[in-house]
Formats: sequence, C-alpha cells, structure tokens
Amino acid sequence: MKIQPTTVDDSVTHALQTAHQRFASNHHGKNASYIPYLASVPANLFGISIMFCDGTHAEVGDTDYAFAIESISKVFTLAHVLDDIGPQSLRSKIGCDPTGEPFNSVVALELHKGRPLNPFVNAGAMATVSLLKAQTAKERWEKIHATYNAFAGHELAVNEEVYTSEASSNQHNRGIAWLLQSYGYMHADPMQVCDVYTRQCSVAITCRDLVTMGVTLANGGVNPMTQQRVVEAKNVAPILAEMTLNGLYDTTGDWYYKVGLPGKSGVGGGILAVVPGVCAIAAFAPPLDVAGNSVRGQLAAEHLSRTLNLSLLD
Ligand code: GLN
Repeated sequence: MKIQPTTVDDSVTHALQTAHQRFASNHHGKNASYIPYLASVPANLFGISIMFCDGTHAEVGDTDYAFAIESISKVFTLAHVLDDIGPQSLRSKIGCDPTGEPFNSVVALELHKGRPLNPFVNAGAMATVSLLKAQTAKERWEKIHATYNAFAGHELAVNEEVYTSEASSNQHNRGIAWLLQSYGYMHADPMQVCDVYTRQCSVAITCRDLVTMGVTLANGGVNPMTQQRVVEAKNVAPILAEMTLNGLYDTTGDWYYKVGLPGKSGVGGGILAVVPGVCAIAAFAPPLDVAGNSVRGQLAAEHLSRTLNLSLLD
C-alpha cells in the first residue's frame, strides 16, 4: 500500500488508509464483460484519491493504474457542450431526470418517444456528443479530447485496445444512435457520433487524473493544478445537478442516500464524487454491482464522506 506524502490533514490520510484496508478484501461484484477488454483487467486493483480545491491531495493503493474512463467521460463532454449551447438548451433537448432503467436501456427511450431524459445514460450521452459544435468527426473528437486534457491538466491517451474492443462490440449503442435519429434527438451523423462516443469512453485515466478532473468541478470550473478555467462557472451547477440525479444510473438514489454527494461511475471501475467548494474523491476498483457501479469504489466514497463529514445533507 502506498500513501503519497502531502500537506493534507492527518485525519484525511488516516481515512483513506482505513477505507483501503477495510474494503480491499471485499470481493463482491464482477468486472464488466460486455466489453471484452474490461473483463481482463485485474479485479483486485484498488486505488483511492482525494484532492482539495487548494491542490493538496492524498492517495492510497493503485492510483497510478490507467483504466478506461467509460461513462465518467459523459460528465466532461457535458461540460464542453454546456459551454457551447448553454444549460437551457441542453435541458430542453436532453433533460435532467432519471430514466429508472439501466444505462443502455432502449425501453426507456421508447417510453419517452426518444427523449433520452439525461446526458448520463448512453442515449443521452450520444445526444450530447451530437450537440457539440463540430463539422467533422475529427473536429468533434479533438474538441472533446482537448476538454478532457484541460480537466486533467495534461494530455490523456486513448487506450486503443479498449477502443478496438468496444468498437467491435457496440452494436447495442449503434442501435440506440439510430433510434435517437429516428425520433429527432440525434443532431449529427449517428454513426459518427457513436464512434466518437466510443472513443471518449476509451480514454485512459488514473485515479490521480480523475480526482484532478473532479476537483476542477469542485473548484467552480478552474483546474487548481494549472489555474486554467476549463468550464464556465455558471455551467458547473448544471453538471452537478446531473451527477446528483443521474450519476450512478438506476441506483443513484441509493448512492445519494449513503454518500450525499454528486457522483459519477463508469463500467471501467472508476467512480468520482464532488464536494462543491471543498474537494473531490476518486476511486478505482473494477468489480461492479448489477447497476454497473464499482462496489469497492462506492464503499470507499461512503466511508470518506461519513468520516470526513463531506455529505451535503449533514
Ligand atoms: N462505453 C460504455 C457503454 O457505452 C460506457 C457505459 C458505462 O460506463 N456505464 O456501454
């Protein structure tokens, strides 16, 4: 186990260590297997990071392991698109309500005449990608990539193995993209959008990257490590609203009940929680619960929220 020396309070490093020790031996959940690459990631990896708005941070465990960002990418594409079109337009074209169904549900889409309801289910995420102002696939991808890089404070790589694995097994998402098109909620070429979406999900990040991306939201849209503004201040609250309502798919309520913070998970095993004005927590552990959320990641976030009194509801 590795703890980086930092200037954070001892109680913070102690809480991280305790969370890691307590949950490292929890073997509940299973790696995602519908994307072949993800099934092969070692299931025992476990990292936890915390970063405060002044840039101080602490971490424990496998925080240098680069994993696939997957659905957490949806947060940062949303940030870019909010800066492009504004929150009102985003809310009228997509929304901020839970579907009550799994993240890749076609039923949810049919029930609402193609309206995706929120940008964190796959349908809404692809609709978000389609709203980004770009003429070509290359331009669309480069804008997304530049935004992620600014959030992380350095250039992030695409894991081409993840991309190839996902691109050859994403027929369900392609179906969703065409369905969105048929209902008028797809605002660019559906297959181009699906491909760019697949690429954004394949970006490789470490816990350290994720916590930096998250603390940039906690810090009102300014990356505390680079001091660069990466999203307009007025667009941070809409992002946190989406994370609060929809960040962990159809079990977002359970998460909020226990953690009391805006969050976002990905099927790569990453999970992010944001404490506005204070800090962000990032965790990584590949085995997922049935909704697709990291089991140990959720436990770690809950432990830190309780121990450090971070819940917005207390
Ligand atoms: N790339 C994944 C998919 O589209 C992302 C889903 C997730 O992390 N929940 O299915």
